[in-house]
Amino acid sequence: MTPDAGRVLERIEEIFSLAPGPNGGASRPAFSGAEARAMLLVAGWAREAGLEAAVDPHGNLWCLPTGEAPCVTGGSHVDTVPDGGRYDGPLGTVLAVEAAVRTGGNRGVLVCAAEEASRFGAGTLGSRTMTGKISEEDLSRLRDSGGRDALSARSVYLDALGDLPRLERAPLERISSHVEVHVEQRADLRREGLSLGVATAVAGPVRHRLRFFGEVAHAGETPATERRDALCAAAETVLLAEKLGRDYAPVTTATAGTLDIHPNSLTSIPGSAEVGVDIRGVLPGGARLLLGELLRGAREAADGRGVRLEDDPLSEAEPTEMDGAMVSAVEEACGRLGVRCGRCASFAGHDAQHLAAVAPAALVFVASENGVSHAPGEAVAEEDLGAALGVLCALVEGLQSGRTPQTLRGRR
Ligand SMILES: [Zn+2]
Repeated sequence: MTPDAGRVLERIEEIFSLAPGPNGGASRPAFSGAEARAMLLVAGWAREAGLEAAVDPHGNLWCLPTGEAPCVTGGSHVDTVPDGGRYDGPLGTVLAVEAAVRTGGNRGVLVCAAEEASRFGAGTLGSRTMTGKISEEDLSRLRDSGGRDALSARSVYLDALGDLPRLERAPLERISSHVEVHVEQRADLRREGLSLGVATAVAGPVRHRLRFFGEVAHAGETPATERRDALCAAAETVLLAEKLGRDYAPVTTATAGTLDIHPNSLTSIPGSAEVGVDIRGVLPGGARLLLGELLRGAREAADGRGVRLEDDPLSEAEPTEMDGAMVSAVEEACGRLGVRCGRCASFAGHDAQHLAAVAPAALVFVASENGVSHAPGEAVAEEDLGAALGVLCALVEGLQSGRTPQTLRGRR
């Protein structure tokens, strides 16, 4: 029987009601006052569970038992995209608090700040700054649509946390292992009759901006054979990205998500066009392979039209392979509790992939009812939520007592 998850649902609702969005979703942007209020709510619940709550200089909330003993931590994030869902972030956060209440011992809650990329164009800011993957200088270069940089937004957010105790640095050495539970962001698990999924890898995104330079000319008076149309070269590249995304599925995805053309006039042949491409692979080198093919095709499309191509790399990351022993620990807990669980990969970034650099980490997905995520319609079944709580409690207990696969015990 799965444990009663009633209080988990109530608390998810409580976080949701802090800042409802205009279309029925949740709006708690990264490093905002609403994110700070959600953090304070979680800190209060953690204190009731006997944990000490404090915030590190990066904005992450640590709820740990007194002392210095390493702990099994759980948690996710509490910020959202604009008008996002109820579960993305709060689900794993509230489950971690509940598991801490029900298990006791050397366990804690770690809620990472500014996970969503929607405000600053880059996400997992809290987990990446605390693990040294990005610097404060990087934060100062990230800006939101209002021109505020992420570093100054963070200091406003930290002020909004009021008298919440401050840590001088992130106590990473206190994480013996970490489990992030997250709502699934597609509909695979439900289709396969599974309640949970455990990620074996998290994709590394490769993002490039492709710039095509042709020649602006009169739309009526320039003969078809004499045109150097930048948009046509870009359009071929967009369709090639779609084709390659299909060819390389399911291990690599490709999306042309932005398009800027100049002069963007109905009576002019476009003289320049800029396409932003996002490629994600869960196998090492997979995204680069697709990118190579896309760039060759883009060059051919440009050459064939007398258009010049410039390739501007924006970011490149390799996929993260999640700890195999942690994957086994999740599967073993599911097996013991009779919870249906399968292996999967995540194409979206998560804090657990960055925490994996400092401690064995697991990323566990709870089946989505409908595949909807980053939207008000996000939904999970109460039964699956109960299953997740049972498995998380078993993990927190098992990982503390060393009742885990051999490789994990030897890690630290
Ligand atoms: Zn999330």
